[in-house]
Amino acid sequence: MRLENGNRVVIVGGGPAGSSTALHMLRYAQAADLRLEVIVLEARDFRRPGPAGCNKCAGVLSSNAVRNLRTMNLDLPPEVIQDQLDTYILHLGGTEVTLRQPDPARRIYSVYRGSGPRRGDLPVQSFDAWLLDQARARGAIVRRAHVQKILATARPTVVIAQEQIQADLVVLATGINSRSPVDEAWGYRPPRTETMVQDEMPKPADFRGGVHIFIDEPPGLIFGGLIPKGRYLNVSLLGHNLSPNAMTDFLASHNLARTFPDGKLLLCGCTPRVVVSPAVGYYADRFVAVGDSAITRLCKDGIGSAFVTAEAAARTAIDSGISREDFEADYRPVCRRIIADNRFGELLFSLGDIPRRMPFLLRAWRRTLMLESQLPLRSRIHTRLLWGLFTGDESYRAIFTSMASPLALLGFLRGVWARRIDR
Ligand SMILES: Cc1cc2nc3c(=O)[nH]c(=O)nc-3n(C[C@H](O)[C@H](O)[C@H](O)COP(=O)(O)OP(=O)(O)OC[C@H]3O[C@@H](n4cnc5c(N)ncnc54)[C@H](O)[C@@H]3O)c2cc1C
Repeated sequence: MRLENGNRVVIVGGGPAGSSTALHMLRYAQAADLRLEVIVLEARDFRRPGPAGCNKCAGVLSSNAVRNLRTMNLDLPPEVIQDQLDTYILHLGGTEVTLRQPDPARRIYSVYRGSGPRRGDLPVQSFDAWLLDQARARGAIVRRAHVQKILATARPTVVIAQEQIQADLVVLATGINSRSPVDEAWGYRPPRTETMVQDEMPKPADFRGGVHIFIDEPPGLIFGGLIPKGRYLNVSLLGHNLSPNAMTDFLASHNLARTFPDGKLLLCGCTPRVVVSPAVGYYADRFVAVGDSAITRLCKDGIGSAFVTAEAAARTAIDSGISREDFEADYRPVCRRIIADNRFGELLFSLGDIPRRMPFLLRAWRRTLMLESQLPLRSRIHTRLLWGLFTGDESYRAIFTSMASPLALLGFLRGVWARRIDR
């Protein structure tokens, strides 16, 4: 079962996974001298401000994601970049630790997925709109349409208002923040999700640059972040079963409500869902799911992992074929690697709870980071670990392995003994 000249690929959803599938599909098809019709159906207008035009995320592009853009021969235009993120300030039990980019060659940026906050003053350039425009410029047909159903007919049928489109291959890239249009007959079940809390606020004139990460209050929080984005700050809370008041509780418990009285300066507000497990049945004959609809990296770098699954699905479809067996052989292993890495992620996030419950460990860890700051960049193991963990720039497996290394343990023991630093 292979794609042939004149065949039609319908990609449902034009977020990072959908747009990048189109870009890779067109690139691989050209290399294989194959003429395809690639259609992207996207329900949203990314040029509308606020949640209506937004794929609702903190908008941090890891250096992996930036590198993946280059494999598609794309460079982020300056008007899409809101800030370059070189510093992370970690707030640990009342103290602060500043982490600086340990590898200056790697660039991390913040972007807006839509056109900025609902109550913002001026619209900003949307990353998702830009990426979709790149797919269009390279030959994809982009249509604004809400897909109601994907039917499991001999050639899949994509149902939109008053029209049915026959496809030779359907790519599901609808993410997890809307109802799945996939007919039950495909055997597809979307990933499990958790609800997150986000908002935007004006960036105060005296804001100390960099991303601020808080890992304690309110209860259930894995971490909360203030992410600079041009004139604004994004506030993102990742956690388990966060309460409806989580945003105001978070601002109050970190004294941020003083700068932003009673949350009155909050400009947007949404409670998007984040993936916490893989989908079931994410490929079949003439059907493949990519990005959040299939599997994503736990808590970090969802955009980067959407690029990875999109590339693997497109490569499989062009180079190997579009049957269940082809996706099983060439696409599934890429998804399994993300799933396996997420297990290390789960372990790391659960280890993060230990210093929260044992303040003396938190203090020792802080001392370890301070002692390290006198070493050359490449020897700052704990700094690199935390940098990789919070930016999504390293695999969870790599972070876990270097955390358990004798050098890292030795560094930590030095921190345990160096109590004079606290005085
Ligand atoms: C609070 C929060 C913060 C996050 N922060 C980051 C971060 O800083 N960095 C990062 O890399 N990742 C982050 N993520 C994860 C990231 O948002 C996702 O992993 C990423 O957006 C997945 O891309 P996608 O294209 O698979 O799905 P989406 O971005 O959700 O795109 C799906 C697209 O499909 C369209 N669609 C849906 N249904 C239909 C339909 N029936 N018909 C037509 N179109 C449809 C939608 O309109 C949308 O445009 C965060 C997630 C959350 C919840």
